[in-house]
Amino acid sequence: MFEVKNIEDVNLAENPIIAQMSKYNHEQLLFCNDNETGLKAIIAVHNTVLGPALGGTRMWMYNSEMEALNDVLRLSRGMTYKNSISGLNLGGGKAVIIGDSRTMKSEALFRRFGKFVNSLAGKYITAEDVGISPVDMNWVSMETNHVVGLPGKSGDPSPVTAHGTYAGMKACAKEQYGSDSLTGKKVAVQGVGHVGEYLVAALAKENAEIYVSDIHEPTLKRVAEKYGAHVVGLDEIYDVDMDIYAPCALGATVNDETLSRLKCSIIAGAANNQLKNEEVHGKAVMDKGIIYAPDFALNAGGVINCYSEVKGLTSSWAMGKAEDIYNTISEIVKRSKSEGIPTYKIANQMAEERIEAIGKVKLPL
Ligand code: NAD
Repeated sequence: MFEVKNIEDVNLAENPIIAQMSKYNHEQLLFCNDNETGLKAIIAVHNTVLGPALGGTRMWMYNSEMEALNDVLRLSRGMTYKNSISGLNLGGGKAVIIGDSRTMKSEALFRRFGKFVNSLAGKYITAEDVGISPVDMNWVSMETNHVVGLPGKSGDPSPVTAHGTYAGMKACAKEQYGSDSLTGKKVAVQGVGHVGEYLVAALAKENAEIYVSDIHEPTLKRVAEKYGAHVVGLDEIYDVDMDIYAPCALGATVNDETLSRLKCSIIAGAANNQLKNEEVHGKAVMDKGIIYAPDFALNAGGVINCYSEVKGLTSSWAMGKAEDIYNTISEIVKRSKSEGIPTYKIANQMAEERIEAIGKVKLPL
């Protein structure tokens, strides 16, 4: 739906930026420069059919402007799909600030960036992402109201993300085992940070048999002892005799190498971009009879939490909405089975179908 058929008509050499935008039908790009503060940023608005484009700001030392551009285009489009599949009235957007987050931060830079966000008049709503702290976002908020996730507002999204991940994992269990009970199921949680620990807590409450790994030894030890989980090595986790693999740390852990080792029948975790190559490994998991819960649908609790702040809704609303992820994942898996199409593709289709349908609703009467 977002691809143009006549992309070859666009002269890439003469017009690389507009051509890149038209490839996935991005609505708008805002290039931001300020010599005084050293601010160099790009804000991408991918699609606003469902509502204002929401997505975080990332600060990263990109090797080139084109690398930053590619990243912001890719990430903003991803937000369109995540917001749509989650049933939120939000479009997709993202911002990148080009620079070293350890050395280049200042109040002036973030306030200047806030001015640029504000110039979009609410079409883009920003939040924290990689390389950005609450202090930085506080500075942004001095120049614009179009910021969410500030300290003292909707708060840490991790419990909501874990709640949604847990609900979606149960939906996969229902499809794979005929019951959504996780009691006695062997679940390997990779990464017991913010989301991972809440997920382990929910699994422990249901008497699942839990295996955990983490690079941070003290956290690993504390979580394992608190919830009675078995500790496994960083690489050993792929060989655990498990029913469910829950990646909650890194991306790209579902790849050729790990797929030859994983014995699970479900992959359901909170990490972003779990499939190393969406097309190759999305199909490979299906061929192995593994149910893969598409990450952007499963880990949408974070954005649901942001949405509750935008709309002035309560945290219990956010938890309830995260529970709906059960139904979303059920539908994805059912359609995947009946149509013989990998789950990640079905999830993309469902996100596009909603945008198309609601786009028609919004036409003038
Ligand atoms: P976090 O940084 O709090 O936790 C990640 C944990 O993974 C840390 O404890 C870290 O030590 C561990 N880790 C790093 N490398 C590891 C490895 N090789 N093996 C095992 N453990 C490793 O992050 P988080 O907020 O819990 O998020 C976890 C994942 O979920 C991330 O991929 C994040 O992008 C994604 N996510 C989080 C949210 C949210 O609400 N926090 C929302 C959507 C997606």
